[in-house]
Amino acid sequence: MKIHEYQAKDIFREYQIRTPKERLCFDTKEAIIAFRKINKKVVVKAQVHTGGRGKAGGIKLASNEKELQMATNTILGMDIKGHIVEKVLISEAVDIQKEYYVGLTIDRSNHTILLMVSSEGGVEIEEVARVSPEKIQKYALPIGSSLAPFRAREVAFDFFKDIHLVRQFADIIEKMYKVFVEKDASLVEINPLVITGKEEMIALDAKMTIDDNAMYRHPELEQLRDDDENEKLELEAKQHGLSYIKLDGNIGCMVNGAGLAMATMDMIKLYGGTPANFLDIGGSSNPKKVKQAMHYLTQDPNVKAIMINIFGGITRCDDVAQGLLQAFDEIEITLPIVVRLSGTNAKDGLKILSASNKVKTVSSMSEAAKLAIATIA
Ligand code: GDP
Ligand code: MN
Repeated sequence: MKIHEYQAKDIFREYQIRTPKERLCFDTKEAIIAFRKINKKVVVKAQVHTGGRGKAGGIKLASNEKELQMATNTILGMDIKGHIVEKVLISEAVDIQKEYYVGLTIDRSNHTILLMVSSEGGVEIEEVARVSPEKIQKYALPIGSSLAPFRAREVAFDFFKDIHLVRQFADIIEKMYKVFVEKDASLVEINPLVITGKEEMIALDAKMTIDDNAMYRHPELEQLRDDDENEKLELEAKQHGLSYIKLDGNIGCMVNGAGLAMATMDMIKLYGGTPANFLDIGGSSNPKKVKQAMHYLTQDPNVKAIMINIFGGITRCDDVAQGLLQAFDEIEITLPIVVRLSGTNAKDGLKILSASNKVKTVSSMSEAAKLAIATIA
């Protein structure tokens, strides 16, 4: 579960990690009240479940009420990577000397907590990771209830000489580690962590994701849930026994099995296309599930073609074919559909589908990917 910057900062404050003075606002009127209360230059920040807001125009400085009004009006309602902004954080502007990146995540293969630190923090961190990954230092931290202070200081000394800064930085890492473990987070990130002109370290931004599998241990965090349209759709799909994750491409995929679904997306990419989603209909797919899956694919306006890739085992290809015919009866579908059926009852499935003129059938997954891409081009 993703939470907003303002919510993550509330948690930071609970752990005494320093943050700017700030207030959540839903309209310009509230923003002005917040501005007067803070009584100095502020930053208006879009609150949406995505990063890169700065680059998208979702972060704006305002030094008077007119600028504030303009910034708030522009940002509210803005579409940032498919997320509509419904609220803004009015945050006291901070005098930045330097921006650092600090992040904690799980390293599954090494069974450790991974700490990442970079002195090149700020909005370009993705670029730094791509072009010069050596500028992001990585530390494997043992899993425990807290981080040993000497270990935190060791890391801090890699970045700072001034003992005053070393202490502050080590303290922040220790506290972030505590947040990470105690809240069952899969990500805790501060970017930028800034040093001000007064040599103080402040978390100017906060990003946090809670492990969904641990939500049952955190009734206090459930109230922070604020799913946007896509997240709601994914949750609803889950209740229908489908794993659905929306992506940015235009080829809708319906596949059985997570591994095959990943392979299908790779195959589409390989031939120059882009998948619109990950969709695993699971094993023992009954026609109803297939129909529901078609519903998700067709409600996404980006989808221009559909690729169905089924390897029948427990899943029976004839069930899938039946589900498709039912979907065609109930949903108006004009998109090109390419189907590859293989394995259990594939022959029967293909026979059922031959009754419909809506689909093209192929015998291999690479053919299916190529054909789906060709129908769009
Ligand atoms: P993100 O783009 O979604 O990660 O949003 P951030 O909260 O990280 O803000 C993006 C950038 O805006 C930061 O890296 C800063 O350079 C700038 N910024 C944010 N708050 C302040 C502030 O209080 N003062 C100044 N001068 N710049 C800020
Ligand atoms: Mn940021």
